[in-house]
Amino acid sequence: MAKNIWVFCEQRDGEIQNVALELLGVAHELAEKTNEKVNAVLLGHNVKDKAQMLIAHGADGVYVVDDENLEKFVTEPYAQAITHIAKKYEPNVILFGATSIGRDLAPRLSARLKTGLTADCTKLEMDEEGNLFMTRPAFGGNLFATIICPDSRPQMSTVRPGVMKKLEADASRAGEVVVEALEWDTSKFAVTVLEEVKAEKAEANIEDAKILVSCGRGVKNLESAQELASKLHGTVSASRTLVDAGLVDHARQVGQTGKTVRPEAYLAFGISGAIQHLAGMEESEFIVAVNTDKNAPIFKVANLGIVADAEAVFKNLNKLL
Ligand SMILES: Cc1cc2nc3c(=O)[nH]c(=O)nc-3n(C[C@H](O)[C@H](O)[C@H](O)COP(=O)(O)OP(=O)(O)OC[C@H]3O[C@@H](n4cnc5c(N)ncnc54)[C@H](O)[C@@H]3O)c2cc1C
Repeated sequence: MAKNIWVFCEQRDGEIQNVALELLGVAHELAEKTNEKVNAVLLGHNVKDKAQMLIAHGADGVYVVDDENLEKFVTEPYAQAITHIAKKYEPNVILFGATSIGRDLAPRLSARLKTGLTADCTKLEMDEEGNLFMTRPAFGGNLFATIICPDSRPQMSTVRPGVMKKLEADASRAGEVVVEALEWDTSKFAVTVLEEVKAEKAEANIEDAKILVSCGRGVKNLESAQELASKLHGTVSASRTLVDAGLVDHARQVGQTGKTVRPEAYLAFGISGAIQHLAGMEESEFIVAVNTDKNAPIFKVANLGIVADAEAVFKNLNKLL
């Protein structure tokens, strides 16, 4: 019988990605319902020593495939590795981050295991029988659909980065590390990575920022926002309006078609609070909204609301700090 909750723990250049730790956090919560174990799946080359970090963040055990075929992410070898261990151990659930890698790998695996996959989930719940309730925005974010996968196992889902909460690391946690080897079918390796060229401009990583100074249509001067963000050691993010206008890079967009963020402080300037925007930030720990319209919907999710002109608030704060 299928059992246990697996998390595909994405690493890039040997660095475990935040979303993996967030998924271990939610997997831990789900596992409490059914008394199942949380297992991390770690694929890569020379990555075995990262297993302890995954245990500290909530994994009861780690399956590792450490092989030079997994040095760089290429779909086929990664798909072969995870298919091999999933067929061998038959997990009840497998979770992936909804990243470019997770979105590539998870559908391959679900097709090979002949099971379903719910993409881009924002909420996961489990009943006592081990059925997973996977909730995701639907119809342009106007409603949320909860999807179940009653007839096949594993139940699979990708989850957006920044949505779930990671556990505090506990170095005293113990867990079993199982190293798996497999016979590769190299005849299927159609892609070889010849060279890796990093994008010149580092992508803004708004998901990891502790403070976001987020700007919407009501912000006329992005330089003031940038100045405030620098003074607060934060990062500038934006609503889709500014991204569509070509004023801000898409990597900084918050919301349903952008990124989901959960910073310690989300400072929303001139953002109305459309449902598609809220979907990406309402789990922030502390929300400050600045808007000239006292009826703007953003104030419904704000911990602190300031009815004022964005530029005036920028000016005053930048002078004070
Ligand atoms: C399928 C779909 C996906 C979408 N995905 C996203 C997404 O990922 N992210 C996203 O953000 N949106 C998304 N949208 C768009 C979303 O519906 C809204 O249109 C958008 O969020 C509005 O951006 P805004 O708040 O900057 O602009 P507006 O809604 O125009 O709001 C501007 C606000 O600024 C205030 N304001 C004006 N002047 C000032 C001033 N001087 N000082 C202070 N405040 C001022 C106004 O009172 C107003 O509340 C999506 C829409 C669809 C249909």
